[in-house]
Amino acid sequence: RGGTAEREVPFAQPGSLTRVYAVASGKGGVGKSSVTVNLAAAMAADGLKVGVVDADIYGHSVPRMLGADGKPTQVENMIMPPSAHGVKVISIGMFTPGNAPVVWRGPMLHRALQQFLADVYWGDLDVLLLDLPPGTGDIAISVAQLVPNAEILVVTTPQQAAAEVAERAGSIAVQTHQKIVGVVENMSGLPCPHCDEMVDVFGTGGGERVAEGLTRTTGAQVPVLGAIPIDVRLREGGDEGKPVVLSDPDSPAGAAIRAIAGKL
Ligand code: ADP
Repeated sequence: RGGTAEREVPFAQPGSLTRVYAVASGKGGVGKSSVTVNLAAAMAADGLKVGVVDADIYGHSVPRMLGADGKPTQVENMIMPPSAHGVKVISIGMFTPGNAPVVWRGPMLHRALQQFLADVYWGDLDVLLLDLPPGTGDIAISVAQLVPNAEILVVTTPQQAAAEVAERAGSIAVQTHQKIVGVVENMSGLPCPHCDEMVDVFGTGGGERVAEGLTRTTGAQVPVLGAIPIDVRLREGGDEGKPVVLSDPDSPAGAAIRAIAGKL
C-alpha cells in the first residue's frame, strides 16, 4: 500500500471492546496451538466474533488445526483473512510458498505482527487470540508494545520441568505490565480407555505450580482456568482441521476446553 506510515493497531485504541489474549508457553509441544484453536472455535460456536493471529512465526500450525485452507485476499489496501468454523485467521504460513521455512530476525517479526494486527480487516471482534511462539522471545515483546492491553494465557503440562519454563515465560508480564488471565494445564493425565483410572503420563501439579509462582512474581492472583486431559480426539481434530470442541464437544478434552472458554 502507498505511504510508509504504519496504521494504528485498532485493538490497542482506548475504547476498543475486543478482548485480546496472548497464548504463551515455555516449551513447544505442550498444546499451546491446540488450546488456542479450540478456545477460538468454542467461543465462535457460542456466538462471539473471534479472530486468531498465528504469531508462532517459525512453528505456524493454526490454519491446519482450524481447517482454514483459504488464502487471504486483498481488498483496497486491507488484507481479508480467511475463516473457518466462524473464526477469522491469519498466519505467516499463508504468505510463504509451500512449506518454506521462515528465516526472519526480530525487526521483521515485529513488522509482520504489526501488519497482522493493523492491516488485516478483522471487523468488530469480541475476542482476538494470539498464538505466540514458545518461550520469551521477540514476539512476546512485540505483542506487549503493539497491544499493551493483551492479557496473557499460559499453557503448561503437569510436568515439573515444563512448569518451570512456563512460569518463566509468564513472568515476562511483570516487565511488560501485562495481566496474566490464568493458566491452562494441558495433557493432564490420560483417562484409561479400559477402566476408570487416570494415568498421569506427565505427572501432576504443573498448572498449580505455575499459577502459584506467577501469583507470587506478579503480586496479582493468577488462577488455574482448567485442566485438559490427553485425548486422542483432540489430536485427531487438530490433524483433520475440525477442533474437538466442535466434532466431539462432550469428550473429556472438548468439555474441558469449553469450560475454560466460558471463563474468558
Ligand atoms: P504447541 O503449540 O505447544 O507446540 P501443539 O498444540 O502443536 O503444541 O500440540 C502438539 C501435539 O500434541 C499436536 O499433535 C497435538 O494434536 C497434540 N496434543 C496437544 N494437546 C493434546 C491433548 N490434550 N491430547 C492429545 N493430544 C494433544
